[in-house]
Amino acid sequence: MRMKNLLVPTLREVPAEAEITSHKLMLRAAYIRRMAAGIYSYLPLGLRTLKKVEKIIREEMDRAGAQELLMPALLPAEAYQSSGRWEVFGPSMFKMKDRYGRDYCLGPTHEEPFTQTVIDEVRSYKEYPMTLYQIQTKYRDEGRPRFGLMRSREFIMKDAYSFDLTEAGLDESYKKMYNAYCRIFERLGLDFTIVDADSGAMGGSGSQEFMVKSPVGEDSIAYCDACGYAANYEKAACIPTEKDFPEGELALEKIKTPEVHTIEELVEFMGTEPYVFAKTIIYKADDKYIAAMVRGDREINEVKLKNLVGCVDDLELAAPSVVRELTNAQVGFAGPVGLDIPIYADLEVAKMRNFIVGANVTDFHYKNVNIHRDFEPTVTADIRVITNGDACPKCGQPIKTAQGIEVGHIFKLGTKYSKALGLTCTDESGKPATVIMGCYGIGVTRCMSAAIEQGNDENGIILPPSIAPFEVIVIPVNAKEEEQMQLAEKIYTELKNAGIDALLDDREERAGVKFKDADLIGIPVRIVVGKKCGNGIVEYKLRKNPDTVEMTVSEAIERAKTYIRENL
Ligand code: ATP
Ligand code: MG
Repeated sequence: MRMKNLLVPTLREVPAEAEITSHKLMLRAAYIRRMAAGIYSYLPLGLRTLKKVEKIIREEMDRAGAQELLMPALLPAEAYQSSGRWEVFGPSMFKMKDRYGRDYCLGPTHEEPFTQTVIDEVRSYKEYPMTLYQIQTKYRDEGRPRFGLMRSREFIMKDAYSFDLTEAGLDESYKKMYNAYCRIFERLGLDFTIVDADSGAMGGSGSQEFMVKSPVGEDSIAYCDACGYAANYEKAACIPTEKDFPEGELALEKIKTPEVHTIEELVEFMGTEPYVFAKTIIYKADDKYIAAMVRGDREINEVKLKNLVGCVDDLELAAPSVVRELTNAQVGFAGPVGLDIPIYADLEVAKMRNFIVGANVTDFHYKNVNIHRDFEPTVTADIRVITNGDACPKCGQPIKTAQGIEVGHIFKLGTKYSKALGLTCTDESGKPATVIMGCYGIGVTRCMSAAIEQGNDENGIILPPSIAPFEVIVIPVNAKEEEQMQLAEKIYTELKNAGIDALLDDREERAGVKFKDADLIGIPVRIVVGKKCGNGIVEYKLRKNPDTVEMTVSEAIERAKTYIRENL
């Protein structure tokens, strides 16, 4: 490709709409343009990278034995109504009616249509196991679309679904996808961590996420360098710790704490440490109310709590009016003593003595509260969020925490969708069997952002040859000098003939402008044809290294070919 024929409207200024590096660079390097909030166009360079990402994913899915098909993005409501997700997705599902008033949505994820296809098309148990996939545009009306392609409302996902007749079969299908994902993210050049993720009621090793550690990641992960344990915050198990509490059981005291609502205010008011308090939070769990307790220096993990309670909808904080009704007090004074709803206490609360809680009376707290004597939790379990320095649940060494970008997710679904939609099969012995499913997603467009978030410097994008829009750029310093231009053309043609994805910057721009653009758009190898071209000498430079090396034309071509071959 020649630069003159390519639409590359690079920007010198950093666009105001972008907050994070990858988003800024994708706009500046003319990879993408914003059409509306969370909706982007892919300009030629961005599209080239996107296609390369897709190609790698496709190759690895095919290698793992998955079959590609393509579902519509515009989908009738029925299957989503049968699974209950027509409601569950809430406002994040783009819904619409056709001219006859029938309901449709733009697919946010495709478990339902894939399950329906297997119901309609698979005739015999002999066709299982089977893994189907597609690379397709997804639509989610995200509450906070942001960070460019990281969290958009229209994005491309590779989604795969496995169908097995036995649990052991599911384990095997899952393992194949796990291995394929490792290969994919390695080929994309991503530095990734695999974390255990929440799998709702499934438990076990039912769900893992592929994370790229980055301060801009929206997921929090806990990991241990000593043993390799890694889990999403939602999943990470916490070992309870014990603090130094006064010995013996002191007498319960009701103390006046006027205008003191938060733990911070209480700590200040009482002149003690946060761990001396236990927080009591009232939640709405489907159609009932529950109280959850953690130590004052801890946070409640709502996902763990939801799984423990076993409710369908996400937990919601109880409305202030409900809190007033259940506790007879203003918000901020709830406590377990005399509370008449189920109490879920964290493991650490069970290790506290003589602590402080809300008194269920406005402006009052109880001091010297003791479990069993003053109240009885309904359930005691791990319901807190892990923190930096906590003991690793596997080996006991200190846990570290980081932010992560979720680029992929694999999940043992079990029979959730096959049961809801009625996917069954008659097995060998003529007995009916329910089909067991797994689902496996990769955020294709998010992978592009993550790769750039990870690969950049002050001059622009740095991508590996496997996904850079072009592999080599040839730049004549002065395109008006015939000798330079001719040699640049020759190098370009030779590279093309060798199967290299080469770009020739044939624009009559100043050399400085061309160098800046080449760096900004992130082409891995740069060959510059300048004053020494008469002697057959050119400059060779890798985007990721600072050094420029002079060498003969044939040496430069050979080096480029070898480098690309070894890094694809
Ligand atoms: P998140 O927690 O980030 O909202 P998710 O867990 O809802 O994502 P999945 O349903 O697991 O997402 O979708 C599979 C993959 O699709 C994710 O791992 C992620 O890479 C990608 N993805 C999900 N939502 C978006 C989005 N709004 N924009 C871009 N990519 C997304
Ligand atoms: Mg996910």
